[in-house]
Order: sequence, then structure tokens, then C-alpha cells
Amino acid sequence: MRQPLVAGNWKMNGTLESVTTLVEGIKAGLDSVTKAEVAVCPPFVYLDRVNQLIGGASIALGAQSVAKEDPGAYTGEIAAPMLKDVGCKYVIVGHSERRAIYGETDSLVAEKYARGLQEGLTPILCIGELLEEREAGKTEEVVARQLDAVIEQVGIAGVGEGVIAYEPVWAIGTGKTATPEQAQDVHAFIRERLASRDTAVAAGTRILYGGSMKGSNAEGLIGMADIDGGLIGGASLKAEEFLAICRAAA
Ligand code: PEP
Repeated sequence: MRQPLVAGNWKMNGTLESVTTLVEGIKAGLDSVTKAEVAVCPPFVYLDRVNQLIGGASIALGAQSVAKEDPGAYTGEIAAPMLKDVGCKYVIVGHSERRAIYGETDSLVAEKYARGLQEGLTPILCIGELLEEREAGKTEEVVARQLDAVIEQVGIAGVGEGVIAYEPVWAIGTGKTATPEQAQDVHAFIRERLASRDTAVAAGTRILYGGSMKGSNAEGLIGMADIDGGLIGGASLKAEEFLAICRAAA
């Protein structure tokens, strides 16, 4: 059985005060979350603080990116051992904002994935198509290319140690959610692609959906056979909304 995972990607948002309020709010409602694993991914500068605020609560900590290099002379970068040092379990790699705004290529994403894995972090690999790619009928081609780059780097077993997040770029931060059926179709395609290499990895790997998920649409999405939770942007910044999604993953 795949335990659902609901992970909040806070992106470049927050202050010391607001992250404190947010973590306290999530902690206060955790008892109502019966099945899902809950994770939050704050900006780097708040990771240590959030780790302390989490204390012994069942909230996993994740980072939003990681350098592919070992610690050293890489101004502005954050190394994988640093993320371990401040208590991270997860690291997001290949988010569409990093691909589109910061030019991260499939091969760089694969190297980051490998570096996270090597450090004992669980990478959350984001893949997904642009609107024009969907309209051109290229959704499967795009997600296959993004996925295969990581399989080539770490092997199918390495992919089995991580989490995949299917995030159609046209649904991120736009309020336009994929329908449960649209999302399920791509999730099933991703799982079949894993199965063509290793059926056990395909059966065990969690594939999250991301893209304007909120309390009101979470149940329909996460209720689909191949959707194992969510990667949540905007709705993860409000404790009650985030908890509603966590509760829906049951
Ligand atoms: C995301 O950025 O991963 C995301 C899914 O954002 P949103 O929920 O705001 O669409």
C-alpha cells in the first residue's frame, strides 16, 4: 500500500512570524489527519526554524531545491549535506518554476536528484507539460522525457526511492486544476512507464498531483487510482486549507 503524501511547497513566501503561525496551525490540526504523511517545504532560510517548530510532531521537512555539487566554492548554493543537517527528509527537484525561470535542464534535474539520493534525502521529482505541449498532444512525450532523464541517471531502483509529482504547468498557480480524469490518465501513463522497467517499483512509487489543488477539489483528485497525494503551492500557505487537503487523502 502506498501511503498518501501531502507536501506543501511554500515557494519564496514567509517571514519568521508567518512560518511560526503556519506550523503551529498545522500542528494544531494534525490529529484530524488519519492517513496521509504530511510534509512542508519552506524557503532555505526558514528550514532550521521550521524544524525546531515541528519538534516531535508528525510533519516531515523538505527543501525546494539542492545543489548538485558537494559543499565548497559555489556562492549562493545549498548542498545536500546541509539539508540533512537541518532535518530535511525530502527535497523537491525539477519544479517547473526552476526549469522555466532558472533554466534547469532535464540533465541538471537528474544530477540534483542523484545528489539528494546519495545524501539519504528523498527527492520529489516534478514533471509536467506546458499548455502548448498539451494542446499539441505532447503530454506523454514530455513527461516521458523528463522521467527517463532521471532513470538514466539513477536507474529504475533510484526512481523507486523517490517520489514523483505530476504537475501540469498550466495548472500551477493558475486556479485551473486538471480534472481527476485528466490527471489520472497521465499518472497511469507514468506508472506504466515505470512498470515497463520494474513492476515492483511501479507499484510502490508514490505519484503526487500538483496544480491548484485545494480543500474543495482534493478528494476527487486523490481518490483516483494512481494519485497518491499532492504537492501543494498556494493552498499550503493557509493551515486550514492545507489540513483540508491532508484530510482528503484518506
Ligand atoms: C506547485 O507549485 O508545486 C503548485 C502545485 O502550486 P499551486 O498549488 O499553487 O498550483
